[in-house]
Amino acid sequence: MAPIPNIKLSSGYDMPQVGFGLWKVDTAVASDVVYNAIKAGYRLFDGACDYGNEVECGQGVARAIKEGLVKREELFIVSKLWNTFHDGERVEPIVKKQLADWGLEYFDLYLIHFPVALEYVDPAVRYPPGWHYDGESEIRPSKASIQETWTAFESLVAKGLSKSIGVSNFQAQLIYDLLRYAKIPPATLQIEHHPYLVQQELLNLARHEGIAVTAYSTFGPASFREFNMTHASKLAPLLEDSTIKSIADKHGKDSAQVLLRWVTQRGLAIIPKSSRQETMVANLNSLDFDLTEEEIAQISAFDRGIRFNQPSNYFPTEFLWIFG
Ligand code: NAD
Repeated sequence: MAPIPNIKLSSGYDMPQVGFGLWKVDTAVASDVVYNAIKAGYRLFDGACDYGNEVECGQGVARAIKEGLVKREELFIVSKLWNTFHDGERVEPIVKKQLADWGLEYFDLYLIHFPVALEYVDPAVRYPPGWHYDGESEIRPSKASIQETWTAFESLVAKGLSKSIGVSNFQAQLIYDLLRYAKIPPATLQIEHHPYLVQQELLNLARHEGIAVTAYSTFGPASFREFNMTHASKLAPLLEDSTIKSIADKHGKDSAQVLLRWVTQRGLAIIPKSSRQETMVANLNSLDFDLTEEEIAQISAFDRGIRFNQPSNYFPTEFLWIFG
């Protein structure tokens, strides 16, 4: 396997360009999945409070370290602040809980998961809390601004709880606002990015401001079919598309590898998730070929501005006025 290139972050740290996503990795298998992924060569793991599997993922890391497969400093562990912990005084305690869950002393990168502040839910009541205050349907916003949350994030760096800090699911206007007051600029921006949702202007802005971009849900609708989103089931699966397949055939690769290379060749990081050993290894081995400029343009031409991962897709319609 070719070595995984690093992306230099504005914080001064290196971030592996290929990592492993932990959303929807079942707790029953998460420890083994993480351990096997480390064995396969992954070094970056993309976790979150909301994924509900940080304890088990940490167990996989601990086993790999104990067996001498890897040292802590060779890993790059990412986690995220959930929406119900945006109030300034809630940030540090929850990071400390998440670190304890992982069995770690620091995160390499800690992100604001969504620019959406919700009322605090005590972890003793429900953890992870999810979107709804009552665990079922009630949405209760909090008054915390992004500035309040970001100031608390900056103190995480000062206290050594996270080496780098960043944001996720932010659009251009919020990033510009954040940059006005940030003493530490966001090192990374993690966004939904696939051929159906290219967001080229946002990518240009990030490049201009020195913010590294991590793409998630690279295979497009594949990840969202289970949520019964009409547009996710109506759109043609990218992994089975004939244009992507014929490009893959030309390079002796599979469609997933082409979709991943389309991202990395343009300088972005990827974090595909896979519980199967075979695809785990195939996704990691997606860097050893180059698409032509014409092929990149052909794939980019799928762009339809279709976003799957947005709060309004998870709420009943009467709540849409809050988040649009
Ligand atoms: P993905 O695009 O990585 O995977 C989608 C589906 O494709 C999964 O069911 C997976 O099992 C399957 N798959 C993976 N490799 C394959 C291959 N080689 N061939 C065929 N099928 C394959 O989707 P994702 O999990 O949505 O995104 C990846 C990661 O990004 C997540 O695990 C999470 O860490 C992160 N993420 C972050 C946010 C956020 O709000 N910041 C949102 C979604 C995902």
